[in-house]
Amino acid sequence: MQRLTALVVATALLGGAGLSAQQPTAIQRASTLLGAGAVKTLQFTGAGQVFSVGQNYTSSDPWPAVPVKNYTAAMNFDTGSMRVELLRTMGPVMPRGGGAPFTGEQRQIQVVSGNYAWNVAAAPAGGAAPAAQPQPGAQSERMLALWATPQGFVKAAMANNATTRGSDVTFTVGGKYRMVGTINGKGEVEKVQTWIDQSIVGDMLVETTYSGYKDFGGVTFPSRIVQKQDGFPSLDLTIASVTANPAVDVTVPDNVRNAPPPPAVTVAVEKLGDGAYYLTGGTHHSLAIEMRDHIVVVDVPNSEARASAVLAKAKELIPNKPIRYLVTSHHHWDHLGGIRTAMDEGATIVTHESNKAFLERVARTPHTLGPDRLAASKKAVKIQTVGDKGQLTDGTRTIELYRLQGYEHTTDMLIVYLPKEKILGEPDAFTPPAQAGTPLIPPAVIYAKALYANVQRLKLDVQTITPFHGNRKSDVAELARAAGTTATN
Ligand SMILES: [Zn+2]
Repeated sequence: MQRLTALVVATALLGGAGLSAQQPTAIQRASTLLGAGAVKTLQFTGAGQVFSVGQNYTSSDPWPAVPVKNYTAAMNFDTGSMRVELLRTMGPVMPRGGGAPFTGEQRQIQVVSGNYAWNVAAAPAGGAAPAAQPQPGAQSERMLALWATPQGFVKAAMANNATTRGSDVTFTVGGKYRMVGTINGKGEVEKVQTWIDQSIVGDMLVETTYSGYKDFGGVTFPSRIVQKQDGFPSLDLTIASVTANPAVDVTVPDNVRNAPPPPAVTVAVEKLGDGAYYLTGGTHHSLAIEMRDHIVVVDVPNSEARASAVLAKAKELIPNKPIRYLVTSHHHWDHLGGIRTAMDEGATIVTHESNKAFLERVARTPHTLGPDRLAASKKAVKIQTVGDKGQLTDGTRTIELYRLQGYEHTTDMLIVYLPKEKILGEPDAFTPPAQAGTPLIPPAVIYAKALYANVQRLKLDVQTITPFHGNRKSDVAELARAAGTTATN
């Protein structure tokens, strides 16, 4: 009731202002200052940090930062295209938290044009230009990033019948995505909010703030850009140069335009022992374990599509038993992508105690942009927490869970040990190289060392390692070698 009253008062004040003055609207002020009518294409270059969203050290920490030596964005507002090139750098040690390990410099090129999004890999020295990789799932986020730039926002506001209340300008793009911007008295776009679909946290706020506006050789643009996703910085740039109306011709590559729809999710099965299955076939793997009167699944990664396929395969392999527990190895978003599907399945989520509050939020967060099974069923979440160790047992079979210690990738990693089969399930700590004998890169060696130290500390008798990434199983001897030491047990 109080909110409604406030809205009525605000509307009345706005109406009054409109009657008494010929002030330009916020959009008109911004359009004049930013030259939105004359700027058809724009390029800006800067440096700063990008952050690995969904890869924080704990589920309440900020995203880990990665230095970006050069960030160049070139956009064509008339064709709805934007090309972003980043040069990221990394020393021998990754920042605390996750993200794909690399060392040295890594160039990434991310493009959107109309309904198409793709990446371009760095060209190998002397090799042919690599093919574009279609990224259909990134289209809406990249398109919103184009219309969230200061000039883009003004153009999109004008094209989409924006409503203005004081300094706030609101409209919807693509018939679906709401954008809210704040324009100050000088006509500077100070902040733009958009929301994108994220399988775990739902309608996720992407908030970009612009400050330090100045004249970059004839075009007014902010000298600092800070973007946050789900509350933490995801991009922090200091802008060095801006060019208005350069040539920006983005052509959709044929292999992107003609890309077949993504193949159906497939789950491959390897039987590890009686009632123990290794579920692979994608980028992230899972385990399904048969108990006396129920099933335990470890990890439902990626997305609802992957999670649904994994859960269906577990029930096909182990018929007539419900999936009662879903163990989540850790909170990183790539491994947690299907967690809401498991919640809808009715499984109790077994996780490290540091994730309880986060998963409670995940269970009730709105999913209006990408409605999922849980948004429809609204089932209450059941969470069972584990500290440094835990177990699931039915009297005959026991599944042991241990938190990895001294592990900089994440604080909540639960490794899974099946004492009967002497099997260790783990993600991220050790992914055996596709070809045995290939040395790991330095940051990955640090993680392998931590896993090996924990196996020794816990005196686990491991015969087989089932990694949740990669293309094959491994063992402790290979882990020891990868960690730069020799197995002692
Ligand atoms: Zn991880």
